[in-house]
Parts: sequence; structure tokens; C-alpha cells
Amino acid sequence: MRIGVLGGGQLGRMLALAGYPLGLDFRFFDPNSGAPVGQIGELVAARYDDEIALTRFLKDVDVVTYEFESIPLAAVEFAAARVPVYPPVEALAVAQDRLLEKQLFQKLGIPVPPFAAIDSRDDLSKAEREVGFPCVLKTRRFGYDGKGQVVLRGAADVDGAWATLGGVPLILEKFVTFEREVSAIGARDQSGNEVHYPVSENHHHEGILRRTVAPAPRLPAALEVLAMEYNRKILKELHYVGVLALELFQAGGALLANEMAPRVHNSGHWTIEGSETSQFENHLRAITGLPLGPTAMKGEVVMLNVIGMTPPLAECLSVQGAHLHLYGKAPTERRKVGHVTLVAGSLEALGEQEKAIASLLQTNGTPPLSHP
Ligand code: AMP
Repeated sequence: MRIGVLGGGQLGRMLALAGYPLGLDFRFFDPNSGAPVGQIGELVAARYDDEIALTRFLKDVDVVTYEFESIPLAAVEFAAARVPVYPPVEALAVAQDRLLEKQLFQKLGIPVPPFAAIDSRDDLSKAEREVGFPCVLKTRRFGYDGKGQVVLRGAADVDGAWATLGGVPLILEKFVTFEREVSAIGARDQSGNEVHYPVSENHHHEGILRRTVAPAPRLPAALEVLAMEYNRKILKELHYVGVLALELFQAGGALLANEMAPRVHNSGHWTIEGSETSQFENHLRAITGLPLGPTAMKGEVVMLNVIGMTPPLAECLSVQGAHLHLYGKAPTERRKVGHVTLVAGSLEALGEQEKAIASLLQTNGTPPLSHP
């Protein structure tokens, strides 16, 4: 079976690495002829609006998926008119627009921070009174890793925020004083069967994920159930097939949905070594009609991203239990170029290994990790 993957980044690469042992073949589409997937699979390098190249990409492909959220919808629709595409195009359309996303969560009874759509400076004046300070102004589309958003602490910040972001559709959200960020990752197959991974805790710095701990330490069982329930509602509503990640803020006894990713997710990379079946394999199983695999954990897990640097290979690998993944990308500032996963019987047992890895990553330019 041949899988066509729209997008040629590390997520596509890790999908293929999980799929080769299952006998699956891969073809990728990415505008960048140097995309990391080119090292391990067939790459069609062309613009997303190049229908001749898309047709070449789709030839003899059995199913198409995508690994990048900002793919022009028209390219995905072009594929969907010719080959089954999973997750469904509607899921991508919703995830590409923070307003549609929040409205979907609301419709499904999933709590969200107060928000308002902003299309003009007048809308912003009105909304700042309704939502209240502090709040966050975000672009509705194409924001990632903290880009396209500005925090407004008070009225004095409004003009500056408008000058920075105004001119495109925006959303204003209440700034949530959360205790932590967690994510719920689940997979749904073509018959509606589901599996869910334990909820993980995520630590960001400057909008970029740095560290994931799974399962989220001391998360009350009721919140774990709630997070999975929210994910389940979305999966069902969208007739979803594949892996879906839902990012949530834990604030007091509540979980507020921040955003969803209709794809494998950075906060699920730990599943490669930490779970019976990785998120990548379950995504592939779902989209190819294979049975989903168990998600039982093999231990407690910490995952650290490698950002903007070439990690010292030998030193990292000499840390016991460290699983290093490099994505074949040139390190530039703020760029995710790899990750390290540590698995042990208990989080305490991981402490020394994590310190060693964290210091290797920090000494080479990664900003300090914020440990709880
Ligand atoms: P996003 O691109 O929406 O995932 O935002 C990136 C990061 O900014 C999140 O992981 C949070 O750490 C922070 N953030 C986003 N929205 C809010 C909010 N409404 N309140 C507090 N922090 C936020």
C-alpha cells in the first residue's frame, strides 16, 4: 500500500519510519526540494497549487494524509476528489482557523477561554471590554509555535497589538492563568473504534514545546477522563480517521481547550518508545484500515525537544536510556531539529538522566527548560 503524505517535515519522516516495518510505501509532497523526508522517501517537490505535480504525487497512491496544518486547503481538496484523504478535510479546515476551532469546541460543550472574533479596530475596542485584560490577540490562521500572537496586559497595549497584527482576521482570547498545559491524543479508525494515550503535561518556552511528561504527574483521574472525553467528542463529530491531538489548559478544576491538531503531534513523540503502539503507527493503522494498536505505557516518560542546535551525539547517547531522534534538518534558531525520549519505571528514576540531557541541550544554545 502506498501512502501519500502532504508535507515533508519531521512528522512525515517519523510516519514513514513507523510505516516501513508494516510494509507501507510513502510518497511525499513538499514545496521544499530539501525537505527532510527526501532522505528516506520519494519526494515530489512543487508548489501546493501545481496541479500537474499534485497529479503526479497522487498516481498509484492508495490513501493521502497530511503532516502539516498550514497546507492550502485547495491542495487537500484536490487530493480528496481523487483519493481517500484522512483525517477528513473538514478537520483540517477547522484546525486552520482558530475561530472555527473555538466555535466547534463550544458547540460540543468543551469549555474554552472567553473569546471574540476581531475584524476591525472597532471590534477590538468592543472585545477588549467584553473579554477583559489580560488577553491574547491571535491571527485566526497560520499561527504556530507562538507566532502571530500578542499578549495585551492593559489598554496601553492595544494600539501596538493592532499595529502588529491588524489587517488579517483575528481572535481575542482571555489570557488563562493556567496551572499547566496538557494534551490528549487519540486515534479513531474507519469503523469508529478509538484508542487514547494517557494525557501528557507540556512545557513551552517562547511558544515552543520544550518538554513533555507522560502521564501528566498527579493529574486527577476525573480530569484525565474529561480530557479524553473532549477528544472523543471531536473525533466523533468530525467522523475523524487518524490521530488527533487536543491541547488544553488546566486551570483549577477545569480544562479549557486551546487548540487541536488534526495530525500526529509533538507532544506525542514519546509514544515511539513509551507506548505499545506509537502515535505514528496508530495514525497509519487508522488511515489504511488496519486495527488500532494498544496504547499501554511502557513506563513513565520525559521527552525533550532539541531546538536550534546540533546536539553532541556521543554525550547524549552515553546517557542511559536516552533515545535520540534527529530529523535531518539544519539547525537554525528556534527550529525543532530532534527530540530525546527517556523512559523509566518512575519519574523520580528519570531525574538524573533528564538533568544530564537537559544540560547537554542547554550548553549548546537551547534556552533553559522550565521545570515545575
Ligand atoms: P497556541 O499557538 O495557541 O498554541 O499558543 C502557544 C502558547 O501560548 C500556548 O501553548 C500557551 O502557552 C500560550 N497561550 C496561548 N493562548 C493562551 C491563552 N489564552 N492564555 C494563556 N496562554 C496562552
